[in-house]
Amino acid sequence: MQTTLEPQTSFEVNDNGFYGRFGGAFIPEMLYPNVEELRQNYRQIIDDPAFQAEFWQLLEDYVGRPTPLFHAKRLSAQVGATVYLKREDLCHTGAHKVNNTIGQILVAQRLGKERIVAETGAGQHGVATATVCALMGLECIVYMGEIDMERQKPNVDRMRMLGAEVRPATSGSKTLKDATNEAMRHWINNPVDTHYIIGSVVGPHPYPDMVARFQSVISEEIRKQLFAKTGRENPDYVVACVGGGSNAAGAFYHFLHEPMVRLVAAEAAGLGVSSGHSAATTALGKPGVLHGSRTILMQTEDGQVTEPYSISAGLDYPGIGPLHAHLFDSGRGEFYAITDDESIQAGFNLTKLEGIIPAIETAHALAALPKMNLQPTDVVVVCLSGRGDKDLATYSKYL
Ligand SMILES: *Cc1c(COP(=O)(O)O)cnc(C)c1O
Repeated sequence: MQTTLEPQTSFEVNDNGFYGRFGGAFIPEMLYPNVEELRQNYRQIIDDPAFQAEFWQLLEDYVGRPTPLFHAKRLSAQVGATVYLKREDLCHTGAHKVNNTIGQILVAQRLGKERIVAETGAGQHGVATATVCALMGLECIVYMGEIDMERQKPNVDRMRMLGAEVRPATSGSKTLKDATNEAMRHWINNPVDTHYIIGSVVGPHPYPDMVARFQSVISEEIRKQLFAKTGRENPDYVVACVGGGSNAAGAFYHFLHEPMVRLVAAEAAGLGVSSGHSAATTALGKPGVLHGSRTILMQTEDGQVTEPYSISAGLDYPGIGPLHAHLFDSGRGEFYAITDDESIQAGFNLTKLEGIIPAIETAHALAALPKMNLQPTDVVVVCLSGRGDKDLATYSKYL
């Protein structure tokens, strides 16, 4: 499937919502009015200077942006290159996800919506959504897989404390994919007063593009900060983990059309790519339609979605967003599959070397570094998507 990169290849979404042969809006008829309302309005809303001003003010005063770009000297010495960490773990609520929920709650307000519905895997997106709903005084309903509710109990309590109603998804594997189905069903039944906040660059157009635009603040800051520190705007590599792909999309965004910047995505291999317990989508998947967009997803011979597995709830998803499918398909992105054990080791390694406990999702990105054949002159930016406090119970099993 991998083809050579043509210089003219675009990584922007086209008018029909496609990135190459991926994307679009494959939705049931009953969802059409909701998605169409959003599609017709989102660019105009986002590009409005008053929206931009409010968005950036909240990112600054509420989220705590810009997040630092930290030169990790001991990690650099270990991997034999210059490594910077983009500290999204320092965002309010502990991960990059709030960048998107701030943007989407402002869109929902401008569309006159009164209620927010969302899905969540690790609970991070649910917390980020419940947080902005509290901030803006909107009703919030979050669907979460029953198994994820057990794995991430503190985040369930956080959401409830923030005033959200957390509803368990009890079908299928009882994880993120099922929560997403339930949230979409809810939206179909409540089209007029409800906005659905998707937590990653997945779902029908315009979601992948809208979420990528909100998260692109990450690479916008990286460029400025790297220039201030090194005199160059472009690193040699940008590395990020990919569940649905929103932190990666945000970290890659302003480098998509800079061919000298290599874009590295780390997927969750679980117990191993061919173990039958994995979430390494590009290694195992084929093109198909998942949650409203044509992308690459893990599926059986006859097209049934395969149950994914990863130690990290945030990467436990059978697909990737259409932008990433296109990055893989075109060869613009380089994809690594990282096992549970490799990610845990990378998490402990960063903690010991730099005093930063990363989310286990994030640790997958760090585990890619030793596999990248880095040279001493290379400048690498790793998107440190979130902090590991929520994963302490999992880490402590390895202590
Ligand atoms: C949710 C999450 C991810 C995965 O989501 P993406 O949309 O792929 O970014 C990665 N890291 C952290 C810390 C998360 O909370």
